[in-house]
Amino acid sequence: MTQLTIEGMAVFCKRKGFVYQNSEIYGGLAGFWDFGHLGVELKNNIKYNWWNFHVRQREDIVGIDGSIVTNPKVWKASGHAENFTDALLDCKKCGKRYRADHLLEDELKKEFNAVTLESIKEMIKKHKIKCPKCKSDFSEPKVFNLMFTTNVGPIEEESAKAYLRPETAQLIFTDFKLVAENARMKLPFGIAQIGKAFRNEISPRDFLFRCREFEQMEIEYFVHPDKTGKCPFIKEVLEHELFIYSDEMQEKNKKEKKMKVKEALKKNIIKTEWHAYWLAVEHKWFTGLGAEADNFRIRQHLKEEKSHYALDTWDLEYKFPFGWKELQGMANRTDFDLKQHMEHSKQDLSLFDEESKKKVVPHVVAEPSQGVERAFLVFMFDAYNEDKERGNVVLKLHPKLAPIKAAVFPLVNKPELIEKSREIFDELKKEFNCAYDKSGSVGRRYARNDELGTPFCVTVDFESLDDDSVTLRNRDDTKQIRVKIENLKETMRKLVNQDIEFENAGKLVK
Ligand code: ATP
Repeated sequence: MTQLTIEGMAVFCKRKGFVYQNSEIYGGLAGFWDFGHLGVELKNNIKYNWWNFHVRQREDIVGIDGSIVTNPKVWKASGHAENFTDALLDCKKCGKRYRADHLLEDELKKEFNAVTLESIKEMIKKHKIKCPKCKSDFSEPKVFNLMFTTNVGPIEEESAKAYLRPETAQLIFTDFKLVAENARMKLPFGIAQIGKAFRNEISPRDFLFRCREFEQMEIEYFVHPDKTGKCPFIKEVLEHELFIYSDEMQEKNKKEKKMKVKEALKKNIIKTEWHAYWLAVEHKWFTGLGAEADNFRIRQHLKEEKSHYALDTWDLEYKFPFGWKELQGMANRTDFDLKQHMEHSKQDLSLFDEESKKKVVPHVVAEPSQGVERAFLVFMFDAYNEDKERGNVVLKLHPKLAPIKAAVFPLVNKPELIEKSREIFDELKKEFNCAYDKSGSVGRRYARNDELGTPFCVTVDFESLDDDSVTLRNRDDTKQIRVKIENLKETMRKLVNQDIEFENAGKLVK
């Protein structure tokens, strides 16, 4: 893997049409990004593959698409109205505002996963930390609520105040009973959602990693309260290996350790089968789409870092060029949220359990919740390769994620080759996002498509007119095969799904 900085990735994404700064012509707006013609395809492919894997291919998970603005009482019940805050530091002289834990991280070159206002004050004093911009003192640290507010209807009074949702999870809880009953779900089951979330981050930074508007892909997985121990699917992941970083390893300043899920369960490092199952499944989702397995680890939250309601929390982390960072938070939230909404709404959100003939409030044993933009960065970083031999970047995105699946070209600009290429392009385009490219040498066209992550190039040459075949070139190893035009769509289908090795998909061209 070529180590590119996050700034380098932002430049590459802009140059190739993946991501632009929002409203750049007006100077932009911090924390907001637009996806370009390739970025939107990659983002949609990530979401589509996530939904397929987590919802369509499973019997126990169904989806919803909740609204962004909801009754503000939802955020009172969930605790967000009061507690969804970060600590803030104001410079007394220049007024610049900093997110306290980020400032401490930058100044002391150390991770701060949980800090109180008191400890911030102490550290500022002890290490004599000043405003990086003007070197003046800070006023007392204070908390800042991250929810964006808006008004509903043509009134601007407090009674009309509502919030843009800071997470998708709460909509799953408020719709829980309706979904469970109408979809006739039986415990254990999950409800999934993909959608926008908004957080007025104090200091958005690291390109797409921390934005103010982003998308989440999220599942709340509900289990019978008496059956939170055993996961019926655990066998599927027992042999799966991944780097594990427990609270104990962190406290003893040890490094993460690679182990099998069965070992982590046996040693009681991961406490429940359900948690282990979901952490492994999420890791497998990334690696199944081409991400490098060893660039991930799961990190347990330290005691002081964990939310008060969570029994145990693990994050799936990725080794970004700016350090190990959270991709996905996964808390065992117990029955906290459903109970909160029952209390605040005065509605019964329990389910009737046929076995015990009693009403039960299910437990959320795991909550795989991740940002689409962070997944976008992971796939881009893992795909990015500067190929010295070829002299260009090769973006080795999994074909399922690649924005353009194939580029079709005539070998030279002759009418009969152009006509044939257009015919093939028009046919392929019905099923795959394809590009037609006739400018520059074939080598130049290969290089251009390597950089955009296009996995296959289809070249139409003079022989094609006689043998009704084309040359298919593989982005990752530049190998070429000859494929009959009538079989091209079927071959592409197999190659995109990686159901066949490239060399076996046609006659290898020496
Ligand atoms: P962080 O500690 O990085 O602020 P968090 O713990 O607040 O994240 P969660 O509330 O657990 O995040 O949100 C679930 C997921 O949503 C995160 O793991 C991340 O992938 C994504 N996410 C959260 N905040 C942002 C953001 N500002 N920009 C992009 N993605 C985000």
